[in-house]
This record gives sequence, structure tokens and C-alpha cells, in this order.
Amino acid sequence: MLSGKTVLVTGGSRGIGAAIVRRLGAAKAHVAINYAGNQAAAQKLADEIIASGGQAFIVQADVSSLADIERMFGACDRAFGDAPNLDILINNAGVGRSGRDGTLKGADEQLFDELFAVNVKGPHFVTQAALPRLRDGGRIVNIGSMSGKVGQPFAAGYAMTKRAIQSLTFSTALAVAKRQITCNCIAPGAVATDFIAALREKPGWDEATSKHTPMGRLGEPEDIAGAVMMLLGDDARWVTGQVIEASGGLSL
Ligand code: NAP
Repeated sequence: MLSGKTVLVTGGSRGIGAAIVRRLGAAKAHVAINYAGNQAAAQKLADEIIASGGQAFIVQADVSSLADIERMFGACDRAFGDAPNLDILINNAGVGRSGRDGTLKGADEQLFDELFAVNVKGPHFVTQAALPRLRDGGRIVNIGSMSGKVGQPFAAGYAMTKRAIQSLTFSTALAVAKRQITCNCIAPGAVATDFIAALREKPGWDEATSKHTPMGRLGEPEDIAGAVMMLLGDDARWVTGQVIEASGGLSL
């Protein structure tokens, strides 16, 4: 089903993005793995996919930079051929507070601007650049967060960026609908990646979060990759403009 399909996964080198890349690689898609700074992690993942008979390459780009986005799609064009040349875009790259004060009371301008640059400006302009390259019948999946659904005074700026991703999903879905391209948002709850490492250092945080989660544990990157895969097949062709939470029921 996904064999030979071309895919760009932003932030595909680690965490949730890497789990998505692994599923796509195993399905024999041709995967562009974008990363920001950690070339070694990206290359290791690409090597792993190639060693198991798949196709992948890495491409460095900071998604908050329009020049980098242009360069990233230039690399994809060289690998995938003339446009339209892209079947699937996964807007996954994102940043959080990383241990900094992200509260409504205390967050500084630098953190606020960084969150919006990577989490909002990035997916907007990556999507814009992808539009003329996407083939009819393609797929766009934006990785949002359950933070975009609920109030989070301890991470207000981050939560705002993830609400914006829902809005981008609705607008994009309408923009591409006539071409039979779908655009949906997967909204994870807490997922055990480097992203929440600072939170997990707090004694008892894992236990408290697991207890608060109806399904009784933290999410794993594979839980989110599975939800993304649901949207990529032909059976999901009529599902568009939706926000689907993958959180073990955390926001219920
Ligand atoms: P992660 O483990 O920190 O990985 C982040 C990935 O994004 C890495 O591949 C990183 O590349 C890349 N990246 C960071 N900044 C970038 C930039 N400016 N340009 C391009 N790539 C960039 O994070 P994660 O947990 O997998 O999170 C992935 C997505 O899920 C994010 O959008 C996040 O908001 C969302 N999410 C996560 C959780 C959670 O609990 N983990 C919950 C809800 C939503 P390098 O390796 O080069 O740094």
C-alpha cells in the first residue's frame, strides 16, 4: 500500500518522528528524514532503514527558516524527481519548554517566539512549499498535541501553538480537498521521548501522569506512529480536517 510512496517527515530523526519513519521504512516507502541539529541520530536511522531493505535519506533544515525549507524541498526534488513528487507530508517537528519556565506568568519573549517559529511558522511554510509538490490523493498529517484542546497555564505558549496546528489542519484540508488530498491532525498526550525529559526528572512525575491517564501509562512513540499510519491508507480517504487525540484518554 505504501510501497514506493514518497514521504517527508519533519523532525524525523528522534522520538515520535523516528517511530513514524520506522513504520514507513518497514512499509517500503521512500522517506526523507528531516532533522535540525542531530545529524548522527538522523543518519543512524536512515542507515537502519536502508539495511533492512528500505529507502531513506536525511536532510538538515530548521523548519522555522524559509531558506532552510526551500533547501529541504530542493533535496527532496533531487531524490524524488520532478513535481508533483510527494505522496505524504508529516509535519512533526516541534519544540517545547525543555525545562524552561513556560508558564503564562513567567515565560519570556525568547521562548514564546521560539515556540511559535518552530511549531507554527514551520508547519505553515512547510505545507505551503509542499502544496505544489503533493500528488492528487496524497496525505498530510500534522502532529499537534492534546495541549491544544485543554487549558494549560503551566505551558500556555506551547498550548497556543498546538491550537494553531488544529487551525492549520482545517485550512489545509479545505485547500487540498478537491485534489482528494486529506489533512488531519494527530494530537498526542504525554509520550516518553526526549521532549518531556525535563518533566520526567521530577520525582513521581511518571507515576502521577500514568495514574491520571485513563489507560494507565505514558504513551510510547509507537503509539503515535500507529495512529498516523491509520490515516495514510486508502481506507482513510474520506477522513479529513479532523483532530484525533492519541493519548490513552488523558484529556477525557
Ligand atoms: P523530540 O523527541 O524532542 O524530537 C524532536 C524532533 O524534531 C527531532 O527530530 C528534532 O531534530 C526535530 N526538530 C526540533 N526542532 C526542529 C526544527 N527547528 N527544525 C526541524 N526539526 C526540528 O520530540 P517528540 O516528542 O518526538 O515530539 C514530536 C512532535 O510531537 C512535536 O511536534 C511535539 O510538539 C509533539 N508532541 C510531543 C509530545 C510528547 O509528550 N513527547 C506530546 C504531544 C505532542 P534534532 O534531532 O536534530 O534535534
